[in-house]
Amino acid sequence: MYDCIIIGSGMAGMTSALYLLRANKKVLVLESESIGGQIASSPRVENYPGYKSISGVELTSNLYDQIEELGCGYEFEEVLNIESVGDKKVVTTDSNKYEARAVIIATGCKYRRLNLDREDEFIGNGISFCVACDGAFYNDKDVAVIGGGNSALTIALDLINNTKSVTIIQDLDKLTGEPINVEKITKNPKVKIHYNSKVLKYIIKDDEFKGLVINEAGVEKEVLVDGIFVSIGTIANTKPFTNLKKDQWNYLLADEGNQTSEEGIFVAGDCKSKRIRQLTTATSDGTIAAISVLNYLKRFE
Ligand SMILES: Cc1cc2nc3c(=O)[nH]c(=O)nc-3n(C[C@H](O)[C@H](O)[C@H](O)COP(=O)(O)OP(=O)(O)OC[C@H]3O[C@@H](n4cnc5c(N)ncnc54)[C@H](O)[C@@H]3O)c2cc1C
Repeated sequence: MYDCIIIGSGMAGMTSALYLLRANKKVLVLESESIGGQIASSPRVENYPGYKSISGVELTSNLYDQIEELGCGYEFEEVLNIESVGDKKVVTTDSNKYEARAVIIATGCKYRRLNLDREDEFIGNGISFCVACDGAFYNDKDVAVIGGGNSALTIALDLINNTKSVTIIQDLDKLTGEPINVEKITKNPKVKIHYNSKVLKYIIKDDEFKGLVINEAGVEKEVLVDGIFVSIGTIANTKPFTNLKKDQWNYLLADEGNQTSEEGIFVAGDCKSKRIRQLTTATSDGTIAAISVLNYLKRFE
C-alpha cells in the first residue's frame, strides 16, 4: 500500500510528491496524458522565481528528474474513481486498482480553446490564455481578446496600458462582464470591439502568427494583431470525483490545509476552487497538501 497517491503530474502534483518523498513516504503519481501538465505546452515562462526564462518542458522535466531520483512511483493511467474503504483509499484507474492511506488530487484544468487549424503550434507564440503569464510579451503591440465576459474584460483592461491596441471579439451583441468593466472598456479609445463575431481561422504567414479572420454579422474581416488572448472559459478536470464538494464551476472545495470534503483526500493546484491559477500558486498548493498529508499519516504510525 502507498502512503499517498497523487493524481496528476503537473507542477502541483510533482511538488507534493517532492515533499512526501523527502519525508521518506511511499508515493505513486498517476498521470493520464504526459509529464508536466499545462505548462509543458508553453515555450517561455518568465515569472517562475529563480528562472529569468525557461521553457515549460525544461521546468517540468527538472522537477520530474528530482522526484524520480527520490524513488517516486509513476504510471501513465487515467484515474476514474477514488473510494474510501475503512481507513484506506482505493484509486481505480483505466487499468488498475491501487490502495493508499491518502490521496492528493492535482488534476488541473483546461482553458477552452477555439480549436482552429494549427492552434497547438502557436500557443505561447501568438495564442495565449493568461495575461499574468504572457501579457508582458505584447508591450507596444496590437492584441485581440476573444470573449466578452468578465474574465475577457479583465484581461483587456490588464493589457490596455502597455499594448498599442486591444481588439475584443465577442460573439454576442453586447459585452457581458460587470457594468463597471464594460464602461471602462467601451470608453477607452485604444479598444475596438467586434460584436456578433466568430473567429474563423488564424492568419499565419512565414510561420508567424499575424492575426485572425472573423465573421462579423455575416461579413468576413481580417483582424491583424501580434497576439490573441482566448478567454472563453476553463474546464476543471474533476469529473471523476463525484463524491467531493465542488464550487459552481466544478472546482474542488478545500479547507486551509487543502483537505477536500472527505478526510484523507487532499487537493492542489488549478483544480482547486480559488481565484489565482499560476505556477507559483500550484506549487504552493502542492506544498500545503503534502504537509497536510504528512500530518494525516501520523495517525497510522
Ligand atoms: C499555454 C499556457 C501558458 C502558461 N503560462 C504560465 C506562466 O508563464 N506562468 C504561470 O505562472 N502560469 C502559467 N500558466 C498556468 C500554469 O500552467 C498552471 O497554473 C499550472 O501549470 C497548474 O498546474 P497543476 O499542476 O495544478 O495542473 P496541470 O498543469 O493542469 O496538471 C494536471 C495534470 O493532471 C493530469 N490529469 C487530469 N485528470 C487526470 C486523471 N483523471 N487521471 C490522471 N491524471 C489526470 C493532466 O493530464 C495534467 O498533466 C500557463 C498555462 C498555459 C496553458
